[in-house]
Amino acid sequence: MLIVMETKATTEMVEKVCSEIERMGLTAHAMPGAQRTAIGVTGNKAQVDSDRISALPGVRDIIHVTQPYKLVNREFYPEDTVIDVDGVRVGGENFVVMAGPCSVESEEQCLRIGERVAKAGAQIFRGGAYKPRTSPYSFQGLGEEGLKILSKVREKFGLKIVTEAIDTEVLDMVADYADIIQIGARNMQNYSLLKKAGRKKNPVFLKRGMSATLDEFLMAAEYIMAEGNHKVILCERGVRTFADHTRNTLDLSAIPFVKKASHLPIISDPSHGTGRRDKVIPLSKASIAAGADGLMIEVHHDPANALSDGPQSITPDDFDKLMNDMRTLASVLGRSL
Ligand code: PEP
Ligand code: MN
Repeated sequence: MLIVMETKATTEMVEKVCSEIERMGLTAHAMPGAQRTAIGVTGNKAQVDSDRISALPGVRDIIHVTQPYKLVNREFYPEDTVIDVDGVRVGGENFVVMAGPCSVESEEQCLRIGERVAKAGAQIFRGGAYKPRTSPYSFQGLGEEGLKILSKVREKFGLKIVTEAIDTEVLDMVADYADIIQIGARNMQNYSLLKKAGRKKNPVFLKRGMSATLDEFLMAAEYIMAEGNHKVILCERGVRTFADHTRNTLDLSAIPFVKKASHLPIISDPSHGTGRRDKVIPLSKASIAAGADGLMIEVHHDPANALSDGPQSITPDDFDKLMNDMRTLASVLGRSL
């Protein structure tokens, strides 16, 4: 259920409605908007007796939400959510670019790539310090040392940092260093990890599972929001299909679906979404045209010797070209980049 307050409703009126909801044994989530405050109600097994609520001062409207996802639902919050990552806006008209290597390999590597992507116009630096690898014998990441390197990239180039927490064990540490906590495709339905991330202050970058439906994807975001963290950034990173000309099939139709169903920002990741360097630029362009709120791109100065995901990593020179193309498209599509 969603309670829409009058434009002129006071803080006291909002608080009164929230306490009435809590008294009914339910959970209230106040969501202040530009025009008015909405209050999401969760925890109800059956339809709530809304008369008790509608009689309270300041209540304009009560909407019963039928979909299983509530807090992520656009019916709950009609405006686009804009997440402020320490001055960098994700969502709304801003088109944000996150770029960097798949893995943090060394300080030299990250500073080198960080300098180039910052100069090209990326606002957020990506790089995994903890890597979820298919083989236990593959490079697993530098751990805390990698997080310290990422902090240096932030200090030096003013980039915000997004990096993955692969389990609940490392989540606290990742949250201490990162601006945004990434939850990877393999963990999209790791509910204890989602819940723990939902109790953090950091925005969470949630990647779609490689065989997850969009309802499952949105329900995963609901887990994070239900714990109180409403700063969720969704990411389409490709799904498994029969196609063997790419590593995954970037599901571009997920972008308009999510934009309609949810108010949360959605970023496209054509690097993991295709697994092939030569597909990254064309699918980046397609992503902004489809309505994505930004890109996550893997960039490496020496892809042939990258410790992970070299075949899908583009060079800093290619990234410059990509950003030029994206700026042209952004201006046509009314996005600021
Ligand atoms: C990554 O971003 O490097 C990564 C491991 O992504 P995904 O979880 O989408 O495979
Ligand atoms: Mn990768």
